Amino acid sequence: MARTRQQTPAPSPAGLAAAEPADIQRLVEDLDGMLNRLRLGAIREQLDGLLEEAARRQLNLREALAWLCAAEVASKEQRRLSMAMTIARFPFVRTLEGFEFEAQPSIDPGKIRDLATCRWVANGDNVVLLGPPGVGKTHLEVALGREAVARGYTVQFTTAMELLGSLVKGQQQGTLEARLSQYSKPKLLIIDELGYLPLEPQAGHLFFQLISRRYEQGSVLISSNRPVEEWDEVFGDQVVAAAILDRLMHHSHVVTIRGDSYRLREKRRAGLFRTPAGGSSSAGIGGLPPPTPAKEA
Ligand code: ADP
Ligand code: MG
Repeated sequence: MARTRQQTPAPSPAGLAAAEPADIQRLVEDLDGMLNRLRLGAIREQLDGLLEEAARRQLNLREALAWLCAAEVASKEQRRLSMAMTIARFPFVRTLEGFEFEAQPSIDPGKIRDLATCRWVANGDNVVLLGPPGVGKTHLEVALGREAVARGYTVQFTTAMELLGSLVKGQQQGTLEARLSQYSKPKLLIIDELGYLPLEPQAGHLFFQLISRRYEQGSVLISSNRPVEEWDEVFGDQVVAAAILDRLMHHSHVVTIRGDSYRLREKRRAGLFRTPAGGSSSAGIGGLPPPTPAKEA
């Protein structure tokens, strides 16, 4: 009895060379289908270019396979990164490369570079950034947050107002537990701008509950324009503030930034504001001089 012909013979290079155009067309379609089924989207989309490049480089089969896989891995990593960045909800894109350390001499660049390794995130430690408005706290939070995302940690950025507003609402609507566990999930929670605006009376208690949950589990990166000695005023309760600081500061790195607002510095450079008399600019609210409009020319 005649043997049934194999439906899809494994193509050999010699077979391919002799194949009819119709066979090649079918092979291309089959391959496309298999790449789709295996979810190898990058290889599928760039197949012709990748194969041409592999041929140009005279790669052997093993090398060519590794080259194709590397393209797929790079594309999947890129997608993971951009999805994680979206989930983190950073307010803008800022990087450590874009941070001018010369403009803020009170910051030790070595300390920031050490923080950029994210060992503190791996250990569940906290970072507290203190300083007046405009000195780069949010910039550093975003830049360090992006480093953490790049290293595969889950990150969420929020402001103190948004976070505490959500917890207060949760308490009123009976959904506090869900909200606390939502904010406890990311390995790194970034809380921006504590102390800028007055908090609701119960906010301190709610914040304490969140910090207790995250204690030694996940990291908190928090920024404030108020020194920690004033946090009892921020939370309106000395006992609660002390309990929050006790947990937050236990395993923590504190970066205190002193100096001029970068925003006003840029404006001064552009001639919009006068340089403060005597060259010193440490007077005024939060170390910030009152801006003096430049005279009309
Ligand atoms: P803060 O959060 O302390 O109020 P920001 O981080 O929002 O200050 O900084 C205000 C603006 O100035 C941002 O656009 C930020 O990127 C920029 N900026 C601040 N400090 C620096 C710096 N040292 N180098 C580069 N840009 C800076
Ligand atoms: Mg800020």
